Amino acid sequence: MSAHPKRVQVVIAGAGPVGCVAATYLAQQGIDVMLAETGPDAAQDLRASTFHPPTLEMLDTLGISDYLMETGLNAPVYCWRDRKTGEVLSFDLSEISDVTRFPFRIQCEQYYLARKLAERLQEMPNAQVMYGHRVIHFEQDNDGVTVSLEHMTGISQVRADYLIGADGANSLVRKWLDIEFDGFTYPEHFLCLSTKQPIHDEIPNLSHVNYVSDPDEWLVLLRVPSVWRVLVPAGLDEDPAWLTSDAKKNQVFGGLLADGEAVQTEHRTLYRVHQRVAKSFHVNRVLLMGDSAHLNNPLGGFGMNSGIHDAFNGCEKLVKILRGEGSPDLLQLYDRQRRTVTHAFTQQQTIENMAIMRGGQSEAHQRRQDAMQALANDPGRRRAYLLKQAMFSSLADAAAIT
Ligand SMILES: Cc1cc2nc3c(=O)[nH]c(=O)nc-3n(C[C@H](O)[C@H](O)[C@H](O)COP(=O)(O)OP(=O)(O)OC[C@H]3O[C@@H](n4cnc5c(N)ncnc54)[C@H](O)[C@@H]3O)c2cc1C
Repeated sequence: MSAHPKRVQVVIAGAGPVGCVAATYLAQQGIDVMLAETGPDAAQDLRASTFHPPTLEMLDTLGISDYLMETGLNAPVYCWRDRKTGEVLSFDLSEISDVTRFPFRIQCEQYYLARKLAERLQEMPNAQVMYGHRVIHFEQDNDGVTVSLEHMTGISQVRADYLIGADGANSLVRKWLDIEFDGFTYPEHFLCLSTKQPIHDEIPNLSHVNYVSDPDEWLVLLRVPSVWRVLVPAGLDEDPAWLTSDAKKNQVFGGLLADGEAVQTEHRTLYRVHQRVAKSFHVNRVLLMGDSAHLNNPLGGFGMNSGIHDAFNGCEKLVKILRGEGSPDLLQLYDRQRRTVTHAFTQQQTIENMAIMRGGQSEAHQRRQDAMQALANDPGRRRAYLLKQAMFSSLADAAAIT
């Protein structure tokens, strides 16, 4: 280890979508950033696939939305379906085209965003992308943060004005800060299967995003350019080997299509899913963003999107502080704004979405169905719903917090 660690303005742990967005925002504002990522590049996994309209507006300021639109599928309509009754409620984002230039969702896997941003960062003189570098420790004082990075040839240190933990659900940065991560873990697995089979040829009126409620086996059917993704719940007591077997695949697709056995899959992945929020999103010179700060179920597509909203909110404030145009107290405002809407919108809405998906034939389920139907039929309430589900309302709520 050298006696005088290298100095940068901001170190970011984690080159997932949130870390890459934060790094790009800061680098484009002339801030000197280092993005440290444990893996050899951004992991190609089957996670976020939906980009909501305000996220596309934000990403457009980084010059990346055109790429996502070229790469992904345009999905103006999403559907809530009831598997037992066959009822379909469609919501069309073109109804809010007066408030956004992006009245649609873009369906595109998150790693396209992370990889393209990292590629562009590598060409910027004030940005360093360090793959194969794991943040293992840090210490902060009044003047900065000393971050230790483990890599192939040893451990090195870097000194920064600020550290951002965008290091995902198991965030080491959050753990070193000793911040509680309260909430709960769902008592089931989520099984994600993907296939190139054109399932839209067999199921009528499928949009690119479909949430299908059912007391026995709810499911999400999502289309991205290369595959359809099917997400179903699976019991924790079920053997993971069985859950990823051909027999299970045949069962899941057999419930949807004429011949489940004929379906070839590209991926079969099991996830544990959590609802958790960090007690604080910042401690002095260290900030948490994205999954390191909050986790929720994927029903609604809010996890990555809300993490990107954290990155824009927090980095805007960091730039002001680093330029001497704002007080470090701005980070408390970041914490208040983003943590409040995480609880009030993301957590609350995803828990509600799960209840709708699991709906049985109970009175409560019927009441929810009736309420959804009533709002779909009422233009004013439908518009409010569209703005809320597209995440515009939560951003307005955050901006109103002083
Ligand atoms: C099945 C499923 C579907 C989903 N669908 C959606 C969706 O449609 N829309 C949506 O908005 N969200 C969705 N999500 C959630 C979304 O995937 C996450 O919210 C998102 O990946 C969070 O991004 P992140 O950058 O915070 O964390 P991550 O994507 O987890 O990235 C963290 C990065 O940090 C790296 N890292 C970890 N520790 C260290 C360390 N110590 N040092 C350096 N690097 C480190 C990791 O290798 C990783 O690359 C879904 C999730 C699942 C499971």
